[in-house]
Amino acid sequence: MIKIQNEHLENLAQNHYRAITNYLSIKKIEKWNAQIKKDFSSEYNLEKLLLAKPHELRELKRIFKGNKEDYKIFKTYYNYLNSYINTKFFLLGNDGFSLAKFGAEASDSETKRVDYNAYKLVKDLNISTCPYCNRGTIYNLQKSKGRTSEIDHFYPKEKYPYFAISFYNLIPSCKVCNKLKMENEIEIHPYERGFENTNFKLKIKDSTFYHSVNGFDLEFKSEDKKTDNQIETFKLDDLYQNHKDIILELIQKEAIYNESYSDELLTQYEGTLFKNKEDLQRLISGGYVSDDEIGKRPLFKLVKDISEELRLI
Ligand SMILES: [Zn+2]
Repeated sequence: MIKIQNEHLENLAQNHYRAITNYLSIKKIEKWNAQIKKDFSSEYNLEKLLLAKPHELRELKRIFKGNKEDYKIFKTYYNYLNSYINTKFFLLGNDGFSLAKFGAEASDSETKRVDYNAYKLVKDLNISTCPYCNRGTIYNLQKSKGRTSEIDHFYPKEKYPYFAISFYNLIPSCKVCNKLKMENEIEIHPYERGFENTNFKLKIKDSTFYHSVNGFDLEFKSEDKKTDNQIETFKLDDLYQNHKDIILELIQKEAIYNESYSDELLTQYEGTLFKNKEDLQRLISGGYVSDDEIGKRPLFKLVKDISEELRLI
């Protein structure tokens, strides 16, 4: 629903790959390179599999001709990644790139080592809300044996064990979405796009809409099958019906802050209480307004879509 945005994504993916290969022996990496070439195509190897972008994951899924049982070990590697106690996964240099091999002589710059595990993966992505629902928060705390946040496998690891540790297959999500998705497959990959063209819409039912949530309906549908499938998988339509109280507040604000009152406030307070008109609009709608910021707060796509429909922003 919300696209995952991070300007350091490529570096984070590289860190992930290096941490995993640092854990594996050279002999094992060679073994996996040969296996992957055989099961996918000669142009692929472990590095390409772990760093495959969403469109490459689709391609790899299509061309796979091996035995998926052979890749079940990748699920074990994922468990290592998840566990705080498996220290061999932690050995990244302090710049995240120069690898300090376990037991090897480390130069001064490499002595301060950076931990790497699934907790760090989620932390570095710096996501505040679940990309699938924009309702649940990503609450990431380190525990003695792992972390509090969830990671969903975009392509389920039971069906596609060969993607179990691929960076772009690992999606931080809320508990509810992770549970609802389970083995279901969805098509809109949060590293590629969100629901930019699908908006929440109001349907006024009767004159009580100014003071009652029963006076209006909330609709969240699209003409696009992929989006509808995702709305259905995560029960987003039902889920958001529980938040009609927020919409009611926006409807009331729209009535209070009409154009003449907004102009009055601007004349009186521009430059003192708020910087400009955009700042006032931000204040009225209750938060962020730009597209790249809607993932920062829960329910903000809902607030943004309805605020736009009501011309609050
Ligand atoms: Zn969620």
